[in-house]
Amino acid sequence: MDKKLAILLDPEKADLSALPFTADCLPDYIFVGGSTGGDTTAFVRALREKLPITNHQLPIILFPGNATQFTPEADAILFLSLLSGDNPEYLVHQQVKSARRIHESSVEVIPTAYILIDGGVETSTMRVTGTKPLNPFNTEGIQTIIDTCIAAEMMGKKIIYLEAGSGAQIPVSPDIIREVRKNTSIPLIIGGGIRTPEAMNAAYSAGADIVVIGNHFESHPEELQKFLSAKRSVSETVCTPSAKRSDDERFMRLALCEAEKALAADEIPIGCVIVSQGRIIGRGHNLTETLSDVTAHAEIQAITAAAQTVGGKYLPDATLYVTVEPCAMCAGAIGWAQINRIVYGATDPKRGFTTYAPRAFHPKATITSGVLETECRQLIQEFFKSKRL
Ligand SMILES: [Zn+2]
Repeated sequence: MDKKLAILLDPEKADLSALPFTADCLPDYIFVGGSTGGDTTAFVRALREKLPITNHQLPIILFPGNATQFTPEADAILFLSLLSGDNPEYLVHQQVKSARRIHESSVEVIPTAYILIDGGVETSTMRVTGTKPLNPFNTEGIQTIIDTCIAAEMMGKKIIYLEAGSGAQIPVSPDIIREVRKNTSIPLIIGGGIRTPEAMNAAYSAGADIVVIGNHFESHPEELQKFLSAKRSVSETVCTPSAKRSDDERFMRLALCEAEKALAADEIPIGCVIVSQGRIIGRGHNLTETLSDVTAHAEIQAITAAAQTVGGKYLPDATLYVTVEPCAMCAGAIGWAQINRIVYGATDPKRGFTTYAPRAFHPKATITSGVLETECRQLIQEFFKSKRL
């Protein structure tokens, strides 16, 4: 995803009349929340009135400190579970208390792993939740941070939020962000202690998808423009350039063509192409019924074909496109082939590698998901629907 900047506003502290927002100077998201309380409903209403754009173009996302801070006025909610601490109140009880109200609203729910990292100061979140942050200052602590993030993804969280805390002296380090990025594939939010565009860009370059600025923005609202300009420059160098993105869609369409071939043969419609230097070197589709072979998945067919094309078993310069998240077996094969980039369309929570083999790929491999996701998923769903009739 593109690099995003979120501004965090605390309903109890933010001065709505001082916001520097204009149509040309807007963050990507506004997070609303605080560790104590405040009337979020009135605040979100007043905030919307202040925004220079309409129609929910700038999502207002709740970042609640507790169940009372939910309001149906928001566009979405980070449905937080505080995974770094062992206080059941913030792991699950506050979530249960707010569940029904959220469920009955039209607010989009984003299951979020909230992980506190020691930022060198005691924060109000630590006081309120009675938990200790994870220690980023030694090897064992860093390992725990990474393992917590891996666990979060396996629990089905859709986003990881690493929080050094409001007013942190030390933001989450780029080294830790890089390690988390390497070991997980869901979007990553970084917050706490980011006071300069350089610190923000260091987080983006290390793999952060969203950087949150709270405290610093409260005292320096006029600096928003500076952060936005800096983000633009880093996005051009770090983010997937649009050419690459359209390449991804182009090759995913070819993988979908492969999936159609499987469908025509009454096979589960999954297709795969392998690309190297802009050229397709292997393609394949699911053939498990035709060949009576449980290993005849699209990826395996494509890897075999690509190895024949290049005349060698390793494919380190290749990108593998597949319409559905690879299973553990295929992830293993992709790892053996040393393929360094994997792009998939629809997720597969039942059989996908993210649940069963999250570390099967080559350690340097990068993963992109959600390319033409709707089309990839529809093809599968229609196939199973036709089977049930
Ligand atoms: Zn497979």
